[in-house]
Amino acid sequence: MSTTSPPLSLPPIGLGTFKTSTTSSIYHAVKSGYRLIDCAAAYSNQEAVGDALQQLFEDGVVTRDDIFVVSKLPNTQHVWTEGVDEGRVESSLKDTLKELKLDKLDLFLMHWPFAFEDVNLHYPSARLSDGSPNPSVSMKCEYKSTWDAMVRFRDLGLCNQIGVSNFTIEQMEDLKSHSAVTPFCNQFEYHPYCTNDSLRKYCVDSGIKVMAYSPLGSGSSSYPPISGCSLLDNSVIKRIATANSRSAAQTLINWSTASDENVVPVVKSENEGRIVENMAALGWELSRDAVENISDLNENYRFFKSYGGVNGGWHDGVLEARGE
Ligand code: NAP
Repeated sequence: MSTTSPPLSLPPIGLGTFKTSTTSSIYHAVKSGYRLIDCAAAYSNQEAVGDALQQLFEDGVVTRDDIFVVSKLPNTQHVWTEGVDEGRVESSLKDTLKELKLDKLDLFLMHWPFAFEDVNLHYPSARLSDGSPNPSVSMKCEYKSTWDAMVRFRDLGLCNQIGVSNFTIEQMEDLKSHSAVTPFCNQFEYHPYCTNDSLRKYCVDSGIKVMAYSPLGSGSSSYPPISGCSLLDNSVIKRIATANSRSAAQTLINWSTASDENVVPVVKSENEGRIVENMAALGWELSRDAVENISDLNENYRFFKSYGGVNGGWHDGVLEARGE
């Protein structure tokens, strides 16, 4: 890998790896044209991604400079006590690079704006089955000292860019008042049930890239109350998909960029046919009416609950709707 090449710009669509367990699907995706791979230490599968990347380089499918690799700092690796454990961030980034078999990331994100004290905590025990916090877990809203540590490691050349994920406008503003370094991007939940309009506009207006996760609804079996069905089964989506001779998934992915060309959707699939189908979701245009009809499905419904304000407070994504 060349460490002197200029940083890659963000490709128009990314492959998600949450719940991915196969090396072959990643290999197939890159061979099919995906140039952005979205990873995270918390997904516990970075070695499989690293194996796929290694094979792709060896087979001459792509070079390191062709691929934009993203990973994320887990909540367990934030700075918990300032001046004592900044090394958590460094060791996490180094472990990630080792697992991915790379000497540098293109983008390193802070996965969430909150921290867990226990470095050995596993994600299922951090949340109860309804997605709310496990009261027996020691956690707090923390991102400033962790951001400072990330800035240092970017300056050491371990990643080209640094950014955040799941940050609200209030948290972005709070970070801005703390650090002169602006996040390269904010990756957050973005689909017709959770259009996150204000946050998207805030990021775009601030020159911060937007990565849209769970554009298909994350394969979740929970639904927002008004629609009462999954995004892929939604009759509005299905009607518009049929009218455009596209699949429901392609319509959802296309919507995420149609409502704002600055948005980069990150989609997960391990199925070879669906990987190709999703890649073909860009390069055509939904009508303005169709975009509006789809946007009207918004219920501010998050599949992934987050920590709300700058002082914490668990929320389910309805803060904006309530004007809180
Ligand atoms: P998603 O991409 O919205 O949906 C993935 C689900 O849809 C899987 O069950 C997949 O199954 C299925 N699927 C994929 N293509 C399909 C198609 N064409 N037709 C029907 N079903 C299809 O959900 P996600 O994984 O939650 O989000 C995408 C990525 O965003 C993640 O993988 C991760 O990289 C990132 N993410 C980040 C955060 C964060 O906190 N920053 C949170 C969540 C997700 P098959 O694999 O069987 O196709």
